[in-house]
Amino acid sequence: MALVNEQFLKLPESYLFSEIAKKVAAFKDTHPEARIIRLGIGDVTRPLPPTVIAALHRAVDEMADAATFRGYGPERGYDFLAEAIIRHDYEARGVKLSPTEIFISDGAKSDTGNIGDILSKDNRIAITDPVYPVYVDTNVMGCRAGDLLPDGHWSDIAYIPCCAENKFIPELPAEKPDVIYLCYPNNPTGTALTKSELKKWVDYALKNKVLILFDAAYEAFITEPDVPHSIYEIRGAKQVAIEFRSFSKTAGFTGLRCGYTVVPKELKGFRVNGEEVELNALWNRRQTTKFNGTAYIVQRAAEAIYTPQGQREVRANIAYYMNNARIIREGLAAAGLEVYGGVNAPYIWLKTPDGMGSWEFFAHLLYDCHVVGTPGVGFGPGGEGYLRLTAFGNTPDVEEAIERIKEWKM
Ligand code: PLP
Repeated sequence: MALVNEQFLKLPESYLFSEIAKKVAAFKDTHPEARIIRLGIGDVTRPLPPTVIAALHRAVDEMADAATFRGYGPERGYDFLAEAIIRHDYEARGVKLSPTEIFISDGAKSDTGNIGDILSKDNRIAITDPVYPVYVDTNVMGCRAGDLLPDGHWSDIAYIPCCAENKFIPELPAEKPDVIYLCYPNNPTGTALTKSELKKWVDYALKNKVLILFDAAYEAFITEPDVPHSIYEIRGAKQVAIEFRSFSKTAGFTGLRCGYTVVPKELKGFRVNGEEVELNALWNRRQTTKFNGTAYIVQRAAEAIYTPQGQREVRANIAYYMNNARIIREGLAAAGLEVYGGVNAPYIWLKTPDGMGSWEFFAHLLYDCHVVGTPGVGFGPGGEGYLRLTAFGNTPDVEEAIERIKEWKM
């Protein structure tokens, strides 16, 4: 008799996006003439840059020739990509890393989800609230979350509220956790931390032997100079942090799949007896056992974004999305709504007007403006009273959506 992992049964149905789809479909049935604009999507809409496409074609041709064909690659990824990552994403910012500290993967979702494999069930986990749901759900699967309480919190997870009242700057927890997930620039709130705010966390982690799992999937969208792109820009961070990066939003790889995780050699975990263990060695063991590497052609495609032309193309796409973010942010603020984010991230976090709940405001936007957002409460109890809009749509639609909301609000 195969017993199941009962933890999976504790997870509520992930109903957020299906519930949205259901409500939109019902509205369409009764209002077939309405042109619905979706500002809820968390996926890119611009095609891959031409330089990436050319690299893919070249790599595919290599696979067709016995002389250049590649089979299994290194589980950790090819050095050509790890070296390009180090040069462009780290050395350019004064951070030194070696290729053995970079683990190329099929994306940050897998890595942020799988990292728990190398951590004990007995760790006390802290998350910011609202949060990218993968951190919570994978800790439920990994027996670290306890039980779901009626108010939407998990009994064993420490929640660090991020809300308008604290300007979305998480406060250091009163009770010391063992592991903290930080995602900056943040999904869903679109807010960022300055270097001095992030330094506070690194110093706290150094002092208290806390591991920071730093998700920097949106670093490419940073526009302000005092916002760090990598946690390793902070002195001492290599001793306390694992960093996750993704090519998904940076370069349109959501369908192609590539990301990477940095596990510095000087980062240590602990055995129950206090003995230090290199987390790099554990993650290497985990990856070489359970993962057989990212496709060669995809790694060549990722390498291409670091060429001068690749950089120009990637930057142009990001500028396109960030212009959408500006239109949303400025338009909604002009309409008298309270808006956050959208300066260093492609997400705009709206406070619902008149004390409405997230779903109530979602319904108003859908019924009155024919615009779809994502109810903030879907990202955790701390998201109640907010709604997330994304900048990944096309600009004419974004402009029209904002005009409709303005008219409705006036
Ligand atoms: N981390 C955050 C904060 C995200 O918002 C997302 C995607 O939405 C991911 C990770 C997943 O990225 P990937 O496509 O590389 O798996």
